Amino acid sequence: MTRRDATVRREAIRLRGRVQGVGMRPFVFGLAERLGLAGFVCNDAEGVAIEVEGRAIDAFAAALRAEAPPLARIDAVERRPLHACGGTGFVIAASRDGGAVATAIPADAAMCESCLDDLFDPASRFYLYPFVTCTQCGPRFTITRAVPYDRPNTAMAGFALCPDCERAYRDPHDRRFHAEPLACPICGPKLSSPIAAIGAALRAGQIVAVKGIGGFHLMCDARNEDSVAALRRRKSRDAKPFAVMVANPASLDRFAIPEAAERTLIAAPSRPIVLMRLRPGTLAPSVAPSLARGGFLLPYAPLHHLIFHDLAGRPEGRDWRDQAQPMALIATSANPGGEPLVVEDEEARHRLAGIADLIVTHDRPILIRADDSVMGIAAGGPVFLRRARGFVPDPIDLGGDGPCVLGVGAHLKATVTLTRGREAFVSQHIGDLDTAETLRFYRETIAHLARVLDVSPEIVACDLHSDYASTRYAESLDRPLVRVQHHAAHLAAIAAEHRQTGPVLGAALDGHGLGDDGGNWGGELMIVEGASWRRIGHLRPLALPGGDRAAREPWRMAVAALYAIGQAESAAARFADIPLAAALVGRVASAPTTTSLGRLFDAAAALLGLRTHQEYEGQAAMELEALVSEPQQLPDGYVLADDVLDFTPLLAVLAAPGIDRRAGAELFHGTLIAGLAAWIAQAAARLGTNAVALGGGCLMNRVLAEGLSVALARQGLSPLLARQVPCNDGGLSLGQAAMARIWAGSAR
Ligand SMILES: [Zn+2]
Ligand SMILES: [Zn+2]
Repeated sequence: MTRRDATVRREAIRLRGRVQGVGMRPFVFGLAERLGLAGFVCNDAEGVAIEVEGRAIDAFAAALRAEAPPLARIDAVERRPLHACGGTGFVIAASRDGGAVATAIPADAAMCESCLDDLFDPASRFYLYPFVTCTQCGPRFTITRAVPYDRPNTAMAGFALCPDCERAYRDPHDRRFHAEPLACPICGPKLSSPIAAIGAALRAGQIVAVKGIGGFHLMCDARNEDSVAALRRRKSRDAKPFAVMVANPASLDRFAIPEAAERTLIAAPSRPIVLMRLRPGTLAPSVAPSLARGGFLLPYAPLHHLIFHDLAGRPEGRDWRDQAQPMALIATSANPGGEPLVVEDEEARHRLAGIADLIVTHDRPILIRADDSVMGIAAGGPVFLRRARGFVPDPIDLGGDGPCVLGVGAHLKATVTLTRGREAFVSQHIGDLDTAETLRFYRETIAHLARVLDVSPEIVACDLHSDYASTRYAESLDRPLVRVQHHAAHLAAIAAEHRQTGPVLGAALDGHGLGDDGGNWGGELMIVEGASWRRIGHLRPLALPGGDRAAREPWRMAVAALYAIGQAESAAARFADIPLAAALVGRVASAPTTTSLGRLFDAAAALLGLRTHQEYEGQAAMELEALVSEPQQLPDGYVLADDVLDFTPLLAVLAAPGIDRRAGAELFHGTLIAGLAAWIAQAAARLGTNAVALGGGCLMNRVLAEGLSVALARQGLSPLLARQVPCNDGGLSLGQAAMARIWAGSAR
């Protein structure tokens, strides 16, 4: 304690950050009591306001940061001296209006250890209750209809608290003080099936639909090939990998080979699906066909823990929670045919009837859908592949004020972004805007986000592509509209999260986006500055025979590659079992072209005989990556002239007869990394810039993201990766919004 603490003083303390709905007020209350301070704490429009009076204010301020509740994130502690007024006692005061309501809604959080103790404590009134929660855990965003975040505005509005819960809710000493989703077996939601029935169905190899936090999961025994294959068949889910839930961290090692950082990430309160190396031969082959990595997650709802408890034979005590359990469950979103996640009970009964043998629901409504988030570790830190439950609606700090704008995303993996003040709120993953159902969810998401943020956009930003449903939606809003080139938006998103002001050099390594010139872009070197962008280089164009169909049929890109190396005629024999192949050879010269790196991956995969057709986006590239142990560079494998990067020499080697797939995959990755690094470094030297933004869907490839980062760093450059939103099209709306804000600033 410092000397100043010897005298009685009074201070106003302001907390900023994620400080509402995370148990901050009872924590402050307890701290003030412990240190014998008088005063009050309350929520207001800016966060948490505190006044304290006494002798231990410095200790109090230090403890605010050091001991804050796990879900809280304190961005600032601002202190201001006041005149002591001799107050006694500390109170939690009513929320201060001051014209604006408190508007922060927390993200959904996994069940905490204390609630887990209650769940399995026969003496607790929450014993085996699937909806146990406290201020440190449970659903938040997905059960909130509107601001402020108070029980009447949540899915709990219809559940009146029983006397015991009411007492806990009112008692600042209780862990459940103002826990809005608070409920118990007497007064709360109920499950439609006993846990024993769920366990029995899973043990029998059946498929069970389980209502969770942001939607329904389909679950089955991930070790049972018959069950997993049946799920794939019934869900008509091609070959896309399924996520696997295991009972606890100790169980992870039975089925995966996690790195330390992956192990930490998977246990975070946000509980994302984390990609990690599969332990060969431990899961059913149909879980993640032809891939070396799979998605794993840990239980996050009490119901998940109860299911694993039952599957473990309902052991007493707590030892089983730390011991490896033999069971692994598929936990895949119940979204038949790529449509949005099922959330309503009636809808579940209709849409999942042909898929699930048992449908488990409950009477706590899900007010907004949120898929599981998907993350991985790349280049020394976490990256998103899909950002949803557990992260939405946590804002991204843009570092400065601006008007409220809406970024509407593009077409695939759509998200939207709304800004408020200095913060950008990126919506949960919505999906590909192909179906009426997804479009309905898209509009619902924008409306819900605007409502919970209490904002209305002044400016809207969309893609250049006029045929996207997102563009048409943006045009219908009757607001000033900014059209942002796809890859410029990818790079602007990275510039925004890394708060780069001024010109930013970036490489957009992507599948497809419409260029300024109407062309098919996807391997671009650009300078993004403020609200403008300039393309300064690109990959050498390859033919795109069949246009959009080439993205689904990698053999077409192999034909394009063979044409590029002057061997188009060999395509007919190489793809003899594809009737169209011979005819395509004659048309390849007149086909449109593309600079897409994604299509170059497809070409390489098809040349190596990996795959002629893909069942899901990126499949060929993922299988190619799965073959790589150590990337190898082909000497003279690329040509760099006038900022055009040409991999034709590499393609010629990959097209040679008899090349080993694994060796080919390693040569492809290694040469790609070397060529891209040289291309970027040359431009950076000329421009005298140091930071380089790396964006676009190809950076989901970990070998590429890490290899390129290392290669650039070796040349003294600072590679910037997307860390707070996905590098794929899921992050576009942030870049669009960031550009629109700058545009608005310069237009004023
Ligand atoms: Zn809890
Ligand atoms: Zn109760």
